[in-house]
Amino acid sequence: MRRKLVVGNWKMHGSRAANEPLLAAIAQGRPYGCDVAVCAPFPYLAEVALAFAGSDLRWGAQDCSVHEQGAYTGEVSAAMLAEFGCRYAIVGHSERRQYHHEGDQLVADKAKAALARGVTPIVCVGESLAQREAGETAAVVKRQLSAVIHTLAHCAGEMVVAYEPVWAIGTGRTATPEQAQEVHALIRAALAGADGAGAAAIAQGTRILYGGSVKAANAAEIFAKPDVDGGLIGGASLDPAQFIQICQAAR
Ligand code: PEP
Repeated sequence: MRRKLVVGNWKMHGSRAANEPLLAAIAQGRPYGCDVAVCAPFPYLAEVALAFAGSDLRWGAQDCSVHEQGAYTGEVSAAMLAEFGCRYAIVGHSERRQYHHEGDQLVADKAKAALARGVTPIVCVGESLAQREAGETAAVVKRQLSAVIHTLAHCAGEMVVAYEPVWAIGTGRTATPEQAQEVHALIRAALAGADGAGAAAIAQGTRILYGGSVKAANAAEIFAKPDVDGGLIGGASLDPAQFIQICQAAR
């Protein structure tokens, strides 16, 4: 039985004034019947870690470098994140694929760099609207996943996958629970079909989150689908009442 996971992705939002009450509200909303994490911008990670210290709440970054260390100005390594107790790193978010031209292999290598330091990568996959309308959803998602499955090899079961249809991110347009389930089942089948002993068991144990305009009003019906193991929540994770209700919907 997979325990559900809800992850807030603050994107490039937040301020010292806004973070404190938001984090306090999330902490006060416990206990949740699922795992809950917040992925905040790098400068705020220490604040999140402090606010969640001593609780079962987790925190993560929104990216990590593919490099261990060195002359990579502006980058943050998985080792640096791990040193402070970072649990998760989102990799391959569509905004990074789009604005920073991150390709499938770089995303896979970032996932590997995170895992090497004990940071669980949340690997985002998902098709654009044009790709969905062209009937390419399955091919796109399988291609994105294939790079990470082959790169992580026997460690593939340690990642979290997030299915985030690009057309649903920040648009208010959510995949129907049926559309989400269809792609989640496909992702699980791709994991099960990977080479290597135990792929089927790994696939059954891997958490696959849905992301794309999840709100308090639609979370429960999406999370009720058998292959949806929680959510990656953007906009609604900045609203404490919404985010707490979404966490409560995941059980
Ligand atoms: C996201 O950024 O990962 C996301 C799912 O955003 P939103 O919930 O705002 O669509």
